[in-house]
Amino acid sequence: MARIIAGKEIVTSMNGTLKQETALLKEKGCTPTLAIVRVGDQPESAAYQAGATKRCEKLGIAVQALILPQSSSLNEVLEVIEALNHAPSVHGVLLLRPFPAHLDDRAIRDTLCCEKDVDGVTSLSLYGVFTGVAQGFPPCTAQACIDILDYCGIPLRGKRAVVVGASLVIGRPVAMMLLARGATVTLCHIDTVDLPSECRRAEIIIAAAGARSLINESCLSPGQVILDVGVTVGADGRLYGDVDFEAANAVAAALSPVPGGVGTVTTTILAKHVIEAAKRTMPLI
Ligand code: NAD
Repeated sequence: MARIIAGKEIVTSMNGTLKQETALLKEKGCTPTLAIVRVGDQPESAAYQAGATKRCEKLGIAVQALILPQSSSLNEVLEVIEALNHAPSVHGVLLLRPFPAHLDDRAIRDTLCCEKDVDGVTSLSLYGVFTGVAQGFPPCTAQACIDILDYCGIPLRGKRAVVVGASLVIGRPVAMMLLARGATVTLCHIDTVDLPSECRRAEIIIAAAGARSLINESCLSPGQVILDVGVTVGADGRLYGDVDFEAANAVAAALSPVPGGVGTVTTTILAKHVIEAAKRTMPLI
Protein backbone atom coordinates (compact mmCIF):
# COMPACT_ATOMS: atom_id res chain seq x y z
CA MET A 1 0.00 0.00 0.00
CA ALA A 2 1.29 3.45 -0.93
CA ARG A 3 1.66 6.37 1.45
CA ILE A 4 -1.36 8.51 0.54
CA ILE A 5 -0.30 12.14 0.33
CA ALA A 6 -3.14 14.12 1.93
CA GLY A 7 -3.25 17.71 0.71
CA LYS A 8 -5.05 18.75 3.90
CA GLU A 9 -2.13 17.65 6.08
CA ILE A 10 0.29 19.76 4.00
CA VAL A 11 -2.04 22.76 4.09
CA THR A 12 -2.34 22.47 7.88
CA SER A 13 1.44 22.40 8.19
CA MET A 14 1.75 25.61 6.12
CA ASN A 15 -1.09 27.55 7.78
CA GLY A 16 0.76 28.51 10.97
CA THR A 17 3.69 30.20 9.20
CA LEU A 18 1.44 31.94 6.69
CA LYS A 19 -0.81 33.33 9.45
CA GLN A 20 2.26 34.60 11.33
CA GLU A 21 3.62 36.29 8.21
CA THR A 22 0.27 37.97 7.53
CA ALA A 23 0.07 39.18 11.13
CA LEU A 24 3.59 40.64 10.93
CA LEU A 25 2.76 42.47 7.69
CA LYS A 26 -0.44 43.85 9.23
CA GLU A 27 1.52 45.10 12.27
CA LYS A 28 3.66 47.07 9.81
CA GLY A 29 0.54 48.54 8.19
CA CYS A 30 0.36 46.26 5.14
CA THR A 31 -2.65 43.96 4.63
CA PRO A 32 -1.76 41.40 1.95
CA THR A 33 -4.44 41.79 -0.71
CA LEU A 34 -5.46 39.64 -3.66
CA ALA A 35 -7.62 40.91 -6.51
CA ILE A 36 -9.48 38.24 -8.47
CA VAL A 37 -10.52 39.15 -12.02
CA ARG A 38 -13.29 37.10 -13.63
CA VAL A 39 -14.89 37.82 -16.99
CA GLY A 40 -18.30 36.16 -17.32
CA ASP A 41 -20.02 33.46 -15.30
CA GLN A 42 -18.17 30.23 -16.05
CA PRO A 43 -19.20 27.91 -13.14
CA GLU A 44 -15.69 26.38 -12.77
CA SER A 45 -14.14 29.87 -12.48
CA ALA A 46 -16.78 30.94 -9.96
CA ALA A 47 -16.11 27.78 -7.91
CA TYR A 48 -12.34 28.34 -7.98
CA GLN A 49 -12.90 31.98 -6.98
CA ALA A 50 -15.00 30.89 -3.98
CA GLY A 51 -12.36 28.35 -2.86
CA ALA A 52 -9.45 30.78 -3.27
CA THR A 53 -11.33 33.55 -1.44
CA LYS A 54 -12.16 31.30 1.50
CA ARG A 55 -8.59 30.01 1.81
CA CYS A 56 -7.03 33.48 1.57
CA GLU A 57 -9.44 35.09 4.03
CA LYS A 58 -8.78 32.32 6.58
CA LEU A 59 -5.12 33.35 6.49
CA GLY A 60 -5.91 37.05 6.96
CA ILE A 61 -5.48 38.04 3.29
CA ALA A 62 -7.98 40.58 1.94
CA VAL A 63 -9.70 39.60 -1.31
CA GLN A 64 -11.29 41.95 -3.86
CA ALA A 65 -13.41 40.42 -6.63
CA LEU A 66 -13.70 42.22 -9.96
CA ILE A 67 -16.37 40.51 -12.03
CA LEU A 68 -16.77 41.83 -15.55
CA PRO A 69 -19.60 41.00 -17.94
CA GLN A 70 -19.09 38.21 -20.48
CA SER A 71 -19.44 40.79 -23.28
CA SER A 72 -16.53 42.97 -22.01
CA SER A 73 -14.20 44.22 -24.73
CA LEU A 74 -10.46 43.56 -24.63
CA ASN A 75 -9.83 47.25 -23.83
CA GLU A 76 -12.23 47.16 -20.91
CA VAL A 77 -10.44 44.14 -19.42
CA LEU A 78 -6.98 45.63 -20.02
CA GLU A 79 -8.04 48.88 -18.31
CA VAL A 80 -9.03 46.94 -15.19
CA ILE A 81 -5.69 45.13 -15.13
CA GLU A 82 -3.72 48.36 -15.69
CA ALA A 83 -5.58 49.91 -12.77
CA LEU A 84 -4.68 46.92 -10.56
CA ASN A 85 -1.03 47.18 -11.66
CA HIS A 86 -0.99 50.73 -10.29
CA ALA A 87 -3.05 50.10 -7.11
CA PRO A 88 -0.55 50.15 -4.21
CA SER A 89 -2.96 48.32 -1.88
CA VAL A 90 -3.21 45.29 -4.23
CA HIS A 91 -0.27 42.86 -4.00
CA GLY A 92 -1.45 39.96 -6.13
CA VAL A 93 -3.84 39.49 -9.06
CA LEU A 94 -5.46 36.20 -10.02
CA LEU A 95 -6.89 36.07 -13.55
CA LEU A 96 -9.58 33.39 -13.77
CA ARG A 97 -9.31 31.60 -17.10
CA PRO A 98 -10.39 30.62 -19.64
CA PHE A 99 -11.57 34.05 -20.74
CA PRO A 100 -14.48 34.30 -23.19
CA ALA A 101 -13.33 33.26 -26.68
CA HIS A 102 -13.49 36.80 -28.17
CA LEU A 103 -10.74 38.00 -25.80
CA ASP A 104 -7.00 37.68 -26.48
CA ASP A 105 -5.75 35.53 -23.59
CA ARG A 106 -2.07 36.36 -24.05
CA ALA A 107 -2.68 40.12 -24.33
CA ILE A 108 -4.58 40.04 -21.04
CA ARG A 109 -1.98 37.92 -19.25
CA ASP A 110 0.93 40.01 -20.43
CA THR A 111 -0.69 43.27 -19.37
CA LEU A 112 -0.43 42.14 -15.75
CA CYS A 113 2.84 43.24 -14.13
CA CYS A 114 4.89 40.24 -13.06
CA GLU A 115 5.37 41.60 -9.50
CA LYS A 116 1.63 40.94 -8.93
CA ASP A 117 1.46 37.78 -11.06
CA VAL A 118 0.86 35.39 -8.14
CA ASP A 119 -0.29 32.51 -10.40
CA GLY A 120 2.62 32.68 -12.83
CA VAL A 121 0.65 33.38 -16.02
CA THR A 122 2.72 36.19 -17.56
CA SER A 123 5.53 35.60 -20.04
CA LEU A 124 7.91 37.32 -17.59
CA SER A 125 7.03 34.94 -14.73
CA LEU A 126 7.45 31.95 -17.05
CA TYR A 127 10.78 33.36 -18.25
CA GLY A 128 11.78 33.38 -14.57
CA VAL A 129 10.78 29.72 -14.16
CA PHE A 130 12.59 28.66 -17.33
CA THR A 131 15.81 30.63 -16.75
CA GLY A 132 16.12 30.82 -12.98
CA VAL A 133 15.99 34.63 -13.10
CA ALA A 134 14.18 35.81 -9.95
CA GLN A 135 11.08 37.57 -11.25
CA GLY A 136 7.34 37.03 -10.89
CA PHE A 137 6.04 33.73 -9.50
CA PRO A 138 5.81 30.13 -10.73
CA PRO A 139 2.30 28.82 -11.50
CA CYS A 140 0.66 27.77 -8.21
CA THR A 141 -0.04 24.17 -9.24
CA ALA A 142 3.56 23.61 -10.33
CA GLN A 143 4.81 25.08 -7.04
CA ALA A 144 2.30 22.91 -5.15
CA CYS A 145 3.87 19.78 -6.70
CA ILE A 146 7.37 20.82 -5.65
CA ASP A 147 6.24 21.79 -2.14
CA ILE A 148 4.44 18.45 -1.75
CA LEU A 149 7.56 16.51 -2.75
CA ASP A 150 9.61 18.60 -0.29
CA TYR A 151 7.05 18.10 2.49
CA CYS A 152 7.21 14.35 1.93
CA GLY A 153 11.01 14.44 2.05
CA ILE A 154 11.40 13.08 -1.48
CA PRO A 155 14.90 13.88 -2.77
CA LEU A 156 14.91 15.22 -6.35
CA ARG A 157 18.60 15.49 -7.25
CA GLY A 158 19.59 12.75 -9.67
CA LYS A 159 16.08 11.22 -9.74
CA ARG A 160 14.34 10.18 -12.95
CA ALA A 161 11.12 12.18 -13.20
CA VAL A 162 8.43 11.88 -15.86
CA VAL A 163 5.93 14.70 -16.30
CA VAL A 164 2.87 13.75 -18.36
CA GLY A 165 1.30 16.85 -19.95
CA ALA A 166 3.24 19.76 -21.42
CA SER A 167 1.01 22.81 -20.97
CA LEU A 168 2.35 26.16 -19.77
CA VAL A 169 -0.05 25.98 -16.81
CA ILE A 170 1.49 22.89 -15.24
CA GLY A 171 3.51 20.39 -17.30
CA ARG A 172 6.28 22.59 -18.69
CA PRO A 173 6.84 24.75 -15.61
CA VAL A 174 6.90 21.80 -13.22
CA ALA A 175 9.36 20.03 -15.54
CA MET A 176 11.65 23.08 -15.39
CA MET A 177 11.33 23.28 -11.60
CA LEU A 178 12.25 19.60 -11.23
CA LEU A 179 15.20 20.16 -13.57
CA ALA A 180 16.34 23.15 -11.50
CA ARG A 181 16.35 20.85 -8.47
CA GLY A 182 18.61 18.33 -10.19
CA ALA A 183 16.12 15.75 -11.48
CA THR A 184 16.51 14.16 -14.91
CA VAL A 185 13.21 15.03 -16.53
CA THR A 186 11.25 13.48 -19.39
CA LEU A 187 8.30 15.57 -20.57
CA CYS A 188 5.57 13.43 -22.18
CA HIS A 189 2.55 14.64 -24.14
CA ILE A 190 -0.17 13.49 -26.51
CA ASP A 191 2.37 12.53 -29.24
CA THR A 192 4.64 10.53 -26.95
CA VAL A 193 4.91 7.15 -28.65
CA ASP A 194 5.29 4.75 -25.74
CA LEU A 195 4.01 6.46 -22.60
CA PRO A 196 3.96 3.27 -20.48
CA SER A 197 7.67 2.56 -20.99
CA GLU A 198 8.61 6.21 -20.32
CA CYS A 199 6.59 6.09 -17.09
CA ARG A 200 7.85 2.71 -15.93
CA ARG A 201 11.43 4.03 -15.94
CA ALA A 202 10.51 6.96 -13.69
CA GLU A 203 11.10 7.21 -9.98
CA ILE A 204 8.74 10.20 -9.79
CA ILE A 205 5.65 10.66 -12.01
CA ILE A 206 3.69 13.90 -12.21
CA ALA A 207 0.52 13.25 -14.17
CA ALA A 208 -1.06 16.42 -15.57
CA ALA A 209 -2.81 15.44 -18.79
CA GLY A 210 -6.49 15.62 -17.89
CA ALA A 211 -7.07 12.04 -19.12
CA ARG A 212 -8.81 9.74 -16.65
CA SER A 213 -6.80 6.61 -15.69
CA LEU A 214 -4.12 7.36 -18.33
CA ILE A 215 -1.53 6.20 -15.81
CA ASN A 216 -2.59 2.59 -15.35
CA GLU A 217 -0.89 -0.69 -14.43
CA SER A 218 1.17 -0.66 -17.66
CA CYS A 219 2.87 2.60 -16.56
CA LEU A 220 3.79 1.62 -13.03
CA SER A 221 6.85 0.19 -11.28
CA PRO A 222 7.28 -0.60 -7.59
CA GLY A 223 8.38 2.24 -5.32
CA GLN A 224 7.37 5.18 -7.52
CA VAL A 225 6.24 8.52 -6.09
CA ILE A 226 3.18 9.65 -8.05
CA LEU A 227 1.51 13.06 -7.97
CA ASP A 228 -1.85 13.16 -9.74
CA VAL A 229 -2.66 16.67 -10.96
CA GLY A 230 -5.30 15.79 -13.56
CA VAL A 231 -8.95 16.42 -12.80
CA THR A 232 -11.83 15.19 -14.93
CA VAL A 233 -15.49 15.05 -14.01
CA GLY A 234 -16.98 11.57 -14.53
CA ALA A 235 -20.47 10.85 -15.86
CA ASP A 236 -21.36 10.20 -12.19
CA GLY A 237 -20.40 13.80 -11.34
CA ARG A 238 -17.36 12.69 -9.30
CA LEU A 239 -13.81 13.97 -9.82
CA TYR A 240 -11.20 11.62 -11.25
CA GLY A 241 -7.46 11.97 -11.66
CA ASP A 242 -5.10 10.82 -14.41
CA VAL A 243 -3.91 7.91 -12.28
CA ASP A 244 -5.68 4.60 -11.77
CA PHE A 245 -5.74 4.92 -7.99
CA GLU A 246 -6.19 1.22 -7.14
CA ALA A 247 -3.40 0.08 -9.47
CA ALA A 248 -1.01 2.77 -8.22
CA ASN A 249 -1.88 2.20 -4.57
CA ALA A 250 -0.80 -1.43 -4.94
CA VAL A 251 2.77 -0.65 -6.09
CA ALA A 252 3.70 3.01 -5.47
CA ALA A 253 5.69 4.26 -2.48
CA ALA A 254 3.58 7.44 -2.30
CA LEU A 255 0.55 8.68 -4.18
CA SER A 256 -1.55 11.85 -4.14
CA PRO A 257 -5.31 11.27 -4.52
CA VAL A 258 -7.91 13.17 -6.55
CA PRO A 259 -9.69 14.92 -4.97
CA GLY A 260 -7.78 15.84 -1.81
CA GLY A 261 -4.23 15.94 -3.17
CA VAL A 262 -2.47 18.55 -5.31
CA GLY A 263 -5.62 20.64 -5.87
CA THR A 264 -6.06 21.08 -2.12
CA VAL A 265 -2.55 22.53 -1.80
CA THR A 266 -2.81 24.84 -4.84
CA THR A 267 -4.94 27.58 -3.23
CA THR A 268 -2.65 27.68 -0.20
CA ILE A 269 0.29 28.26 -2.56
CA LEU A 270 -1.72 31.13 -4.07
CA ALA A 271 -2.04 32.62 -0.57
CA LYS A 272 1.68 32.07 0.04
CA HIS A 273 2.47 33.96 -3.18
CA VAL A 274 0.21 36.89 -2.21
CA ILE A 275 2.01 37.15 1.14
CA GLU A 276 5.38 36.94 -0.64
CA ALA A 277 4.31 39.67 -3.10
CA ALA A 278 3.32 41.88 -0.16
CA LYS A 279 6.64 41.17 1.59
CA ARG A 280 8.54 42.17 -1.56
CA THR A 281 6.92 45.63 -1.34
CA MET A 282 8.32 45.95 2.21
CA PRO A 283 11.95 44.91 1.83
CA LEU A 284 12.80 45.46 5.50
CA ILE A 285 10.47 42.68 6.71
P1 NAD B 1 -4.10 21.15 -21.26
O1 NAD B 1 -5.24 20.53 -21.99
O2 NAD B 1 -3.70 22.55 -21.53
O3 NAD B 1 -2.80 20.25 -21.49
C1 NAD B 1 -2.87 18.85 -21.42
C2 NAD B 1 -1.50 18.27 -21.74
O4 NAD B 1 -1.61 16.86 -21.56
C3 NAD B 1 -1.04 18.50 -23.18
O5 NAD B 1 0.35 18.74 -23.18
C4 NAD B 1 -1.35 17.18 -23.88
O6 NAD B 1 -0.43 16.90 -24.94
C5 NAD B 1 -1.20 16.18 -22.74
N1 NAD B 1 -2.07 15.02 -22.93
C6 NAD B 1 -3.42 15.03 -23.05
N2 NAD B 1 -3.86 13.76 -23.22
C7 NAD B 1 -2.78 12.96 -23.22
C8 NAD B 1 -2.59 11.56 -23.38
N3 NAD B 1 -3.61 10.75 -23.61
N4 NAD B 1 -1.31 11.09 -23.32
C9 NAD B 1 -0.27 11.91 -23.10
N5 NAD B 1 -0.39 13.25 -22.96
C10 NAD B 1 -1.64 13.76 -23.01
O7 NAD B 1 -4.44 20.95 -19.70
P2 NAD B 1 -3.81 21.66 -18.41
O8 NAD B 1 -4.41 23.00 -18.23
O9 NAD B 1 -2.34 21.51 -18.43
O10 NAD B 1 -4.42 20.74 -17.27
C11 NAD B 1 -4.08 19.37 -17.21
C12 NAD B 1 -4.92 18.70 -16.13
O11 NAD B 1 -4.55 19.25 -14.87
C13 NAD B 1 -6.42 18.96 -16.27
O12 NAD B 1 -7.11 17.81 -15.86
C14 NAD B 1 -6.69 20.10 -15.29
O13 NAD B 1 -8.01 20.08 -14.82
C15 NAD B 1 -5.70 19.75 -14.21
N6 NAD B 1 -5.29 20.89 -13.37
C16 NAD B 1 -5.30 20.73 -12.04
C17 NAD B 1 -4.90 21.75 -11.21
C18 NAD B 1 -4.87 21.53 -9.72
O14 NAD B 1 -4.64 22.47 -8.96
N7 NAD B 1 -5.05 20.29 -9.27
C19 NAD B 1 -4.51 22.97 -11.76
C20 NAD B 1 -4.44 23.12 -13.15
C21 NAD B 1 -4.83 22.05 -13.96
